[in-house]
Amino acid sequence: MKNSKQFVTPSVEDNTIQNLTRQLLEANTRLSQLQHERETMLANISHDLRAPITAIRGAIDLITSSENPSPEDIRRIMALIDRRTKNLEALINDMYYLFSVEDRSRELETETIDAAAFLEEYFYDCTADSRYDKFDMQLNVPSDLDCTINADVQKLVRVLDNLFTNAAKYSIPDVQQNTPVLRLSAEKIDSGIKITVSDNGNGIPAEALPHIFTRTYTVSDARTPMSARSGSGLGLSIAKAIIEKHGGSITCESTVGKGTDFIIILPTL
Ligand code: ADP
Repeated sequence: MKNSKQFVTPSVEDNTIQNLTRQLLEANTRLSQLQHERETMLANISHDLRAPITAIRGAIDLITSSENPSPEDIRRIMALIDRRTKNLEALINDMYYLFSVEDRSRELETETIDAAAFLEEYFYDCTADSRYDKFDMQLNVPSDLDCTINADVQKLVRVLDNLFTNAAKYSIPDVQQNTPVLRLSAEKIDSGIKITVSDNGNGIPAEALPHIFTRTYTVSDARTPMSARSGSGLGLSIAKAIIEKHGGSITCESTVGKGTDFIIILPTL
């Protein structure tokens, strides 16, 4: 019987050990991914902090080394320092905000609110904002929506601010022929409420779509057109962190030249 194979039915213990081993391997892979993500983010952040600081240092050196800089030169260099300092402030503020949202020891400051009333109020505030003057602003939230949510209002406002600001940044009139549209919609679905922020702007290339919410995806000017360089590159990462902390999800559908939809699903009470 030396060469005969023995087929042994695995015992309950064997199955448990196999399951535990698989779970441990999965946890290990996830940990490695997280560590890699963190390292890439730190590398990106260091790069993005260094770029404006180098520019500011260069500008200061230029002024201090010139024997007799003209008032015009000084004005130009001060304007450059001002722009770069604003970039730095935006990046540092957004980094701090993202880390504090992701900090598990910090709870959301939630209250029970009527979603339709919240969205309407947000929308009408935006219609009074001159940044959206050129937009055809559309609200598609039924008044009888009847959805109550548990929400940290300030943080949800931050999410909508990031999405609205992006819609404005990436709907550039000289690229776009049609009137820019910015639409806020909401509907009740089985798993809660679906909120959509839509624009008919530049759109996002298919190859970039899977990466736009990832904070490790180059936090640099390369992502942002010249007209929108004030962005830190963390706006969507912040939006995702806030929505997930509310137990929801955010996704994006986009077509280059046609526009972009950001879709938020939040649990209702
Ligand atoms: P940024 O500061 O670069 O705008 P975000 O995290 O807010 O950073 O957005 C990430 C990237 O997603 C942007 O650089 C842009 O390429 C793309 N994006 C986001 N929103 C839109 C939009 N409404 N239309 C087109 N592209 C967008």
